[in-house]
Amino acid sequence: MPHENTITPGATRPFSTTQSGAPVASDDHSQSVGADGPIPLHDHYLVEKLAQFNRERMPERVVHAKGGGAFGTFETTEDVSRYTRAALFQPGVVTETLTRFSTVAGEQGSPDTWRDPRGFALKFYTTEGNYDLVGNNTPVFFIRDGIKFPDFIHSQKRLPGTHLRNHDMQWDFWSLSPESAHQVTWLMGDRGLPASWRHMDGFGSHTYQWINAAGERFWVKYHFKTNQGIKILSQDDADRIAGEDADFHIRDLSSAINRGDFPTWDLSVQVMPYADAAAYRFNPFDLTKVWPHADYPLIPVGRLTLNRNPENYFSQIEQATFAPSNFVPGIAASPDKMLLARIFSYADAHRYRVGTNHAQLPVNAPHAAPVQNYSQDGAGRFAFNSPAIPNYAPNSFGGAAADPARAGDSAGWESDGELQRTAATLHPEDDDFGQAGTLYREVLDDAARDRLVANIAGHVGNVTVPEILARALDYWSRVDQELGARVAAALEPVAPGSNEDPEVIGIPA
Ligand code: NDP
Repeated sequence: MPHENTITPGATRPFSTTQSGAPVASDDHSQSVGADGPIPLHDHYLVEKLAQFNRERMPERVVHAKGGGAFGTFETTEDVSRYTRAALFQPGVVTETLTRFSTVAGEQGSPDTWRDPRGFALKFYTTEGNYDLVGNNTPVFFIRDGIKFPDFIHSQKRLPGTHLRNHDMQWDFWSLSPESAHQVTWLMGDRGLPASWRHMDGFGSHTYQWINAAGERFWVKYHFKTNQGIKILSQDDADRIAGEDADFHIRDLSSAINRGDFPTWDLSVQVMPYADAAAYRFNPFDLTKVWPHADYPLIPVGRLTLNRNPENYFSQIEQATFAPSNFVPGIAASPDKMLLARIFSYADAHRYRVGTNHAQLPVNAPHAAPVQNYSQDGAGRFAFNSPAIPNYAPNSFGGAAADPARAGDSAGWESDGELQRTAATLHPEDDDFGQAGTLYREVLDDAARDRLVANIAGHVGNVTVPEILARALDYWSRVDQELGARVAAALEPVAPGSNEDPEVIGIPA
């Protein structure tokens, strides 16, 4: 039921007020000079309502604009204390969570079932402060250096002139960025169209660092495996649903939670001893690669359960801010260049989008830990220190002071050399296509391979520039010779760009 408190006839109801709390005379009529006369500017309630309405929207997220989410819990069911001292990952600890799912390229209101990676962003309200794990439903990503991110996203969104999405620029960027091959193979495969957010896995994707109580360091990757089972949509069903119900995935999640069918994911981690990284057979900090399970098996940690829908979408989901810079003691960054760029970029986006004091909003503030520092002021500020506490450190009056032992000070890594702009040199022999080829040859079955070929051909078939089409076909041949040949064969009857002709796709003139 959309509104639970339907008023019974004759019952008294609260009186409406201005934002300042004064009773208002009418919900329906503005003041006017005579019944048909002009409206005076001093009808401040009318002005207040319209002004507030004009300001209801904040800038939408540049990426991950369309999404939904729910609150829940994370319970650590296993003992991984030998790898991390983070309070939330100690045996038996239950932590409140917020999870937000999203598509990446579509704007607010775009269909949930467009082929796209899905965001899988988590906020853990831990006793040591909020920990955010801002992941996706894919274990890898399109690029490995944040400096390419704005260009990558521009190529996936809209042409500046026509405001249309455009296959030429998508395939131009991808085929000129061979490190994208693994993620694009994943995306064009079955899991690029999850049946619902409940029926997909989540990944931290980056390599992170865990530090135990003795100060020992480990490299980790997070895997959230769905307990609802993987379910996918066919391209035809996804296209149909996109027209029938653009909010299909938001509706699915909130309906499941409303009927008490709480979705769960089991978290496991892959753990690499700190010293292994240098000698591993490829760069373990490269976001375009997975760590094969045979090398680093999954180690169970605990269970995520979503059990509470937001009461207000705007306040609790739209204004929610997740930042990879929100670490807690026992968890830290790695030399993954994408992660290092995101650590700056997300918090910066929140300061712009939601405001400098976004972390004070109830959904973003810690729920189980105090905030004690000397930051002050800024638009929208409402929390403040007692006047007995000074606004500077160090001070002689008993305000908060940094506690290095509590924070943990061993979360670094060795690094040396001249400032430079190059690919990571840890493993210069790494290739861009190997793991994409493994996915095609060893993970997908024949039917999934057929669908992959059809999906790629359906997409690449919209490219209109011959050089880009040739480069895209070469890209697939480098993933796998046979795959390249099959995509080329599937494209043969279709002239490049013909899929974009309205008459070909049946739109009446
Ligand atoms: P494994 O055989 O141990 O694991 C294969 C992985 O592929 C499983 O995680 C499986 O997930 C997943 N998978 C199954 N079908 C698909 C699909 N259609 N699209 C995407 N992923 C799928 O192999 P390795 O660990 O040696 O990895 C081999 C390849 O598997 C990699 O190159 C990578 O492309 C892919 N992969 C690997 C992951 C990893 O972390 N090692 C994670 C995800 C994919 P599930 O168990 O849910 O079926």
